Amino acid sequence: LNHVSKTYDRGDNLSVHGLNLTIHEGEFMCLLGPSGCGKTTTLRMIAGLEHASGGEIRLGERIVDSQQAGLFVAPEQRQLGLVFQSYALWPHLTVAQNIEFGLKLRRLPRSERQHRLQTVMATLGITAYRDRYPSQLSGGQQQRVALARTLAVQPQILLLDEPLSNLDARLRLEMRAELKRLHQQCGTTMLFVTHDQWEAMALATRIAVMQGGELQQVGTPQEIYDRPANRFVAEFVGTPP
Ligand code: ATP
Repeated sequence: LNHVSKTYDRGDNLSVHGLNLTIHEGEFMCLLGPSGCGKTTTLRMIAGLEHASGGEIRLGERIVDSQQAGLFVAPEQRQLGLVFQSYALWPHLTVAQNIEFGLKLRRLPRSERQHRLQTVMATLGITAYRDRYPSQLSGGQQQRVALARTLAVQPQILLLDEPLSNLDARLRLEMRAELKRLHQQCGTTMLFVTHDQWEAMALATRIAVMQGGELQQVGTPQEIYDRPANRFVAEFVGTPP
């Protein structure tokens, strides 16, 4: 992100301003900050669900959003996977059918679909539920299916917006471990949005701390904890939940 800003049509203020952030391939980056600081807006711009009002967004060598250059690449052409807090699964489709749905949309051959389905279900430990419907699963199991569905299409970058916030404390810990394992196993570049500093500390290879639409500090969990750049970072990161 190169000097990216966002003003919503109805908003008077800039929601995000002057954002400069480089996320490296294979990195697990957490975007951390309090409610309303612009995390979701940033994620939505990267996904192409919002246009940036200024600046430039690149994915690899490709400019995907630049008002100045008159460029905007549609979300489906950005090769990103998205997992949101509310992970709508199709209620009338089984676990396997939910996961396969996106693969059919992409017109993958049957053998390739079956291979990816089996691999991703095994990775996330949901093979035993393959013929169940979402209503027959717990919240955590549904969350795994949502993650499996996204991973099956093999996105280069995975964007996760508070995907664990609906889970109870125990499941959240389990899913954190799962996400870390997935990251190590698949090497997918991850951008994970959270307002929970301990979650960010536990997951990230680097953390970008945001407040009031601006980046306050970018660094490893250790750097942020040991050498906070300013008072806000020190208080936000150092305060117990
Ligand atoms: P939370 O953790 O509560 O989800 P956030 O850090 O993700 O918050 P955003 O949702 O990105 O924050 O919101 C940033 C700012 O932009 C807020 O002031 C919000 O009110 C404003 N905003 C977000 N979406 C819109 C919209 N569609 N129209 C107008 N203003 C918006």
